[in-house]
Amino acid sequence: MIPNDRYQRHSLIDWFSQDDVRGARIGVVGAGAVGNEVLKCLALLGVGALDIFDLDRVEVHNLTRSVLFRESDIGRNKAECAAERVRELDPSIAVTAHVGDFFRVLDFDRLQDYAAIICCVDNFEARIRLNLICKLWRVNFINTGVDSRNAVVDTFPFALNPEAGCYECALPPSVYQRLSQRYSCGGLKRIAFVEKRIPTTVITASLAGSLAASRALRLGPGAPDQNAGRIFVDSITGSSTRTELPQRADCPVCSQLKAPVRIARVDRLQAALENLADAEVTLPEPLILSFKCKSCGRGDGHDTPLFWRASDHDSRLTDCAGCGAEGAVDIEIKDRIPAQTLALIGDRPLPLPFVATGSETGTRVFVLRWES
Ligand SMILES: [Zn+2]
Repeated sequence: MIPNDRYQRHSLIDWFSQDDVRGARIGVVGAGAVGNEVLKCLALLGVGALDIFDLDRVEVHNLTRSVLFRESDIGRNKAECAAERVRELDPSIAVTAHVGDFFRVLDFDRLQDYAAIICCVDNFEARIRLNLICKLWRVNFINTGVDSRNAVVDTFPFALNPEAGCYECALPPSVYQRLSQRYSCGGLKRIAFVEKRIPTTVITASLAGSLAASRALRLGPGAPDQNAGRIFVDSITGSSTRTELPQRADCPVCSQLKAPVRIARVDRLQAALENLADAEVTLPEPLILSFKCKSCGRGDGHDTPLFWRASDHDSRLTDCAGCGAEGAVDIEIKDRIPAQTLALIGDRPLPLPFVATGSETGTRVFVLRWES
């Protein structure tokens, strides 16, 4: 029991266990409009611990949708600012701000401490990567989405049910098309591509935020609903729908990486891959293996792959640094490669936190030591 009267009203609710809420650690990725609402709800409910991830800074236009930010916060890091305000709301909550891309700052050894990770970002790449991580580590995953009218909250109870549908099971092909428009060669950011920002208001953000907080706290052992599902709310008509998100046989994640999942930390990836022969290895983000200029023949990586993170480069890499020919460089980018190819990494560090390989009998995850 928590020895103060702060939660006295909660104690009157027969289905609300303050001790369970107090025992929960929740990861919140993205401290923007929806993240603010999620954090506000979880803080007022008296959650035990919050880890807040964000790499952005507060901008003036955030102030119309962000209950935790003030005008004097403009220019400050969103994660740190939100953490400070959560501490003001309830000083007894253990809050940690993680500044940076969650993929680079996440502690993979502590993932299973999370009762849930709530995704409050507005881009598909981050959702896809978080979904993969949560599915492999069996962490409950809540995804949110908002526009100016509607709020969507998806629940993927991976801790309860490893066979639950995943975020990519529910992803329509149009999203992959949109992603490929943003990238050239399947993984390099197009330098000229201007992304359309979806306008939102605090109305849809608060609907999504409160539903996400509610879902996250209702995924304990024995939760009545162990299947993935989507809640869709129209903020203008007030209508809402709930649909189940079943596992799809052709899902790029679920078809490749089946349960059970075994996770091992490895120092030398090459040795870990030795017995895997020609098994396909899934990379959590695409890597550049090689490049070659069609015009002058300048290239690299054909004997020993380069293993560069595609996200560290952009479409300027297709302009040849040798002969200057624009767009003449063919770049080999992969997010799935044979184990034998990956073994060519030798003693070099792989710039990824983990790789995974699946077969009909299950999945193996190798967690790597890496410097971000
Ligand atoms: Zn799936």
